[in-house]
Amino acid sequence: SPRPQDSYLQGLNPEQHAAVVAEDGPLLVLAGAGTGKTRVLTTRLAHLLITGRVRPGEILAVTFTNKAAREMVHRVEGLVGHGVQGMWLGTFHAMGVRMLRAHAELVHLKSNFTILDTDDQQRLAKQVLQAANIDDKKWPPRALVGLIQRWKDKGWRPDQVPASEVGDFALGKGLELYEAYQGRLATLNACDFGDLLLHCLTILTQHPDVLERYQRRFKAILVDEYQDTNVAQYLWLRLLAQTWRNITCVGDDDQSIYSWRGAEVGNILRFEQDFPGAEVIRLERNYRSTGHILGAASGLIARNRQRHGKTLWTDDEEGQQVKVAGLWDEEEEARWIGDEIESWQRQKHKLADVAVLVRASFQTRALEERFIQMGLPYRVIGGPRFYERAEIRDAIAYLRLVASPDDDLAFERIVNVPKRGIGDAAMKTVHNMARAGHVSLYLAGHALSGTDDLAARTRTSLVNFLHMVDRWRGDMREKSPRELAETVLDESGYTEMWRQERSPDAAGRLENLKELVKALEEFDTLAAFLEHVSLVMENAADPTADMVSIMTLHGAKGLEFQNVFLAGWEEGLFPNQRALDEGGAKALEEERRLAYVGITRARRRLTISFAANRRVYGQWSSSVPSRFLDELPSKHVDHLERAPDARPDLDPFFDDAPFAPIPNRFRSRRAEQAKLIEGRAEILQVRSSTPSRKFDIGQRIFHDKFGYGRIEAIEGNKLEIAFEKAGRKKVVDSFVEAT
Ligand code: ATP
Ligand code: MG
Repeated sequence: SPRPQDSYLQGLNPEQHAAVVAEDGPLLVLAGAGTGKTRVLTTRLAHLLITGRVRPGEILAVTFTNKAAREMVHRVEGLVGHGVQGMWLGTFHAMGVRMLRAHAELVHLKSNFTILDTDDQQRLAKQVLQAANIDDKKWPPRALVGLIQRWKDKGWRPDQVPASEVGDFALGKGLELYEAYQGRLATLNACDFGDLLLHCLTILTQHPDVLERYQRRFKAILVDEYQDTNVAQYLWLRLLAQTWRNITCVGDDDQSIYSWRGAEVGNILRFEQDFPGAEVIRLERNYRSTGHILGAASGLIARNRQRHGKTLWTDDEEGQQVKVAGLWDEEEEARWIGDEIESWQRQKHKLADVAVLVRASFQTRALEERFIQMGLPYRVIGGPRFYERAEIRDAIAYLRLVASPDDDLAFERIVNVPKRGIGDAAMKTVHNMARAGHVSLYLAGHALSGTDDLAARTRTSLVNFLHMVDRWRGDMREKSPRELAETVLDESGYTEMWRQERSPDAAGRLENLKELVKALEEFDTLAAFLEHVSLVMENAADPTADMVSIMTLHGAKGLEFQNVFLAGWEEGLFPNQRALDEGGAKALEEERRLAYVGITRARRRLTISFAANRRVYGQWSSSVPSRFLDELPSKHVDHLERAPDARPDLDPFFDDAPFAPIPNRFRSRRAEQAKLIEGRAEILQVRSSTPSRKFDIGQRIFHDKFGYGRIEAIEGNKLEIAFEKAGRKKVVDSFVEAT
């Protein structure tokens, strides 16, 4: 029992305390966001050590990310007062590797087996498809990998896949391919991520002696984010916990957001059946967020039917209402968020306390570009920055090659992406030629087309490729950078390559490519765009600097920040249309849980924004604010009519106006938006009109809003004017009268 001087127990509320000091046995802490589940888990772990109930080597603790694991070790050591070695503490993957290395030979691997990354997996799947004579255009490797992954998440080896689940991949050959894939892995002394736990399950179920050793060893098992475990993980835990039945799981069914990856929220709801006599503790006090933030989150999640329903309360102040801001488009949204963060920084707050959370990874592009422009340090957590993503690098390599064909790095990157039969051997010949003639790969390629150094088929492919590049170079004069990029991505087959990949991440890559094309609209020449990109890429922030975090909602699970921005709350984007299309009725509830996760990351301030318009291929289209906005109880929400710090010195009709007059009365939003779009069209017309008026530099004029002034410069239909009262401004000439 705890000693009275044990300060680590102080400050826990009675329910938390009960969970921390609970006697051995199955224990489930089922509670809402920010109620201290992770804190309870950590403190219980420390408590078990401090009271001597278990030794470090007898603990298995599973967290969702490596970062969470490091934090847990750190906190436990802080509580215990010294270093703790020998615990099994980490992610499911990390724990799986550890167990598998110790018993690899039982599943016919050597203990030095390698773990394939996604690319390797893809390559292997491709070989398997080819060996089986299956058209990998129709049945892409990625899709096979996805299928195998799903089976592995369910805990099924090839011999365990039920006949009813085989499905129609490659006309019903999915299972054979799975077998072949596993066979290849074995030959390579390798496994993929999904295998880590699957092999462990095989070992534990087929070797009772090994199972018993681990069952006896782990006197305490602790699991965070239990709602997101998949079947394989669940089975593994259940096996290991059988001897001591001393398992503590914490989770929140309202935060189950990984069903698309095989997580089964049912695991948490079935806990009491799996472990009869389990103690279930509920925590209701939220320590993280202000009253308004918590009220908004609770009101939203109450709309879900599939839930256990829980009350959450806080003793904290009401705080500020959740701000909801409608911006003109995604650029303006990024600009506005950037300004808000700067003003937060001016109030002497840290950037590290700020997070911007997005639903889809393409959304980071506008934010990143704006932050770079402003010099606001940021990091993208859980993925590369926009311009560092593989598909964006590929696309940019194409554009670089068009702009300067002698760019060898660009040439090499995409000459055979998508596959055109210009493989390593052919490239070696091209390289030799280039070296011999001191010319670029592009020129060497042209030179080779007149020789028979290359096999006829390869030569034809190369010639076709070079002709394509030359044609695009010709297009450069007539086409805008955006049109050119569309042509290049289309004719090269690059977009098509991703379209063929029917895997979950392919869709995201296609979205990123679309976003790239959109980014090009801002530029008059390809060269200007490429220069912009290189500046952006160069801008790698100092890793020790105080930085804003940008990440997806999925990546933000378990984290908390003082000030959170949730961007892009528009129908289609969030809730996400693709998720709804793929997941049916259940998907909407999962999207809503994701919104709940997002809102509950915020401690003191929360701002939600949406863009009223999206530009798709040069066309404005209006978007409808997310239904989730309507679902936030109005008393917790402050709908901003216009940006509070809208700079009055800017003409609202200019691009750099911080805020467009966006309707925030959602009830009539469709009608109002239609009006707005019309209005904007007029503005655009006004703006694009060529200088029709006869104004001269030095002329005195009158402006509707700013009064009298003198023209200092003329640029198309924009006039730079020194106003007598309002100072220097740029305005559109149609609002100006000669005096
Ligand atoms: P999530 O569902 O988002 O993972 P959680 O339930 O795991 O949330 P924690 O992250 O453990 O919640 O705790 C949320 C915040 O509340 C943390 O900052 C934590 O330190 C604080 N907290 C938890 N319990 C207490 C307490 N008894 N007294 C003061 N602060 C607490
Ligand atoms: Mg937590």
